[in-house]
Amino acid sequence: VPVPNNLESFWMPFTANRQFKKDPRLFVKAEGMHYWTSDGRKVLDGTAGLWCCNVGHSRPKVVEAVQRQIAELDYAPAFQMGHPKAFELAARLVNYLPSPLDHVFFTNSGSESVETALKIAIAYQRARGKGTKTRLIGRERGYHGVNFGGISVGGIPNNRKFFGSLLTGVDHIRHTHDLSRNAFTRGEPEYGAEYAEDLERVIALHDASTIAAVIVEPVAGSTGVLIPPKGYLKRLREICDKHDILLIFDEVITGFGRLGTPFAVEYFDVVPDMVTCAKGITSGVIPMGGVFVTKDIYDTFMTGPEHMIELFHGYTYSAHPVACAAALGTLDTYEDEGLLTRGAELAPYWETALHTLKGLPHVIDVRNIGLIGAIELESIPGEPTKRAFTAFLEAYEKGVLIRTTGDIIALSPPLIISKDEIDEIVATLAMVLKNLA
Ligand code: PMP
Repeated sequence: VPVPNNLESFWMPFTANRQFKKDPRLFVKAEGMHYWTSDGRKVLDGTAGLWCCNVGHSRPKVVEAVQRQIAELDYAPAFQMGHPKAFELAARLVNYLPSPLDHVFFTNSGSESVETALKIAIAYQRARGKGTKTRLIGRERGYHGVNFGGISVGGIPNNRKFFGSLLTGVDHIRHTHDLSRNAFTRGEPEYGAEYAEDLERVIALHDASTIAAVIVEPVAGSTGVLIPPKGYLKRLREICDKHDILLIFDEVITGFGRLGTPFAVEYFDVVPDMVTCAKGITSGVIPMGGVFVTKDIYDTFMTGPEHMIELFHGYTYSAHPVACAAALGTLDTYEDEGLLTRGAELAPYWETALHTLKGLPHVIDVRNIGLIGAIELESIPGEPTKRAFTAFLEAYEKGVLIRTTGDIIALSPPLIISKDEIDEIVATLAMVLKNLA
């Protein structure tokens, strides 16, 4: 693939990546578990792109579905008209979640799914005569995308600092315990109920009659893989029920097999009122997201006296035909290859392999669940991201793509990964960590 050798003189993409122009790392091709770089190297994908390419790269069923769809029907207006694949996709998707999460609203990204869920939550409360319920509760270290609602409920102060008060009436669960211990794979008994009392504390600061919804990632991904203790999410559900507050799971990362079940809903056996998704819905091929809602929420706007028009919410590209085709090709691949449960089969191997990194220099914790992993490094004082970023560069040079957040290495390989490839990731990381200053 030809790559211009004078990138310096090209327009600089305005992205978060400052290094891009100085030191471009370009991918020019991808297939299965691998990327190929502009300088001809093959790189094993340890992060499924950005936690999204769950079926691996450029898989035939997805590619063919997209190509066929573009030639057949390129676009259908989402407001006045529909198209058959939107119906087919909705019908297939809701099988991945238990009743009453029986309906899905289509968006184009995780951030849009979050905004959609927050708006539906407030509108639904009003529609059922609970118009005072307008507050939203997120969690410290929650990540819910980059739009205004998402950064307001998100628990990362840095992402909010330029933007004043943002959404009013938002507060966050403040953790009084370390949520990063992993009771699930350490065989510990339930102790999440105690942790969940942090939600009672934030509700008590306000009045439950003013709170519309609580939004959490079942496993916080982008802030460093925080795996809740057993019983935590169940207790959140009970507390929300007690106070008549909606519970939203942001499953943009945990959805579509990442934990070894179709959604975290099944893994944790907790049914929220809404579930957001994106990423794995099309395995990263075309932007798409969705919000699953309960039958009750759906009926409120679609068959009850309240009308979706009053909620006025929808995107030009909601249920885009090409995205729907990509999603259907992705679901075919998940199902034909058993990928939505493959994470459960591989999890013990993954866990054993990752935990061999314990005891290497600077490693202070190793966490895992399904096919997610995190290696937390001790930071150099005053340089809270340097060690992990150095590891990222070294691993990349050695042919493995990882992701870092702060000084935490995060892993989330495509669900088609083999045991040999797991070994390759871990061996490369071991080499990198041994030499890390
Ligand atoms: N929610 C969660 C839990 C996420 O992990 C992400 C993306 N990492 C988002 C929302 C935002 O998704 P997107 O980047 O597709 O807007």
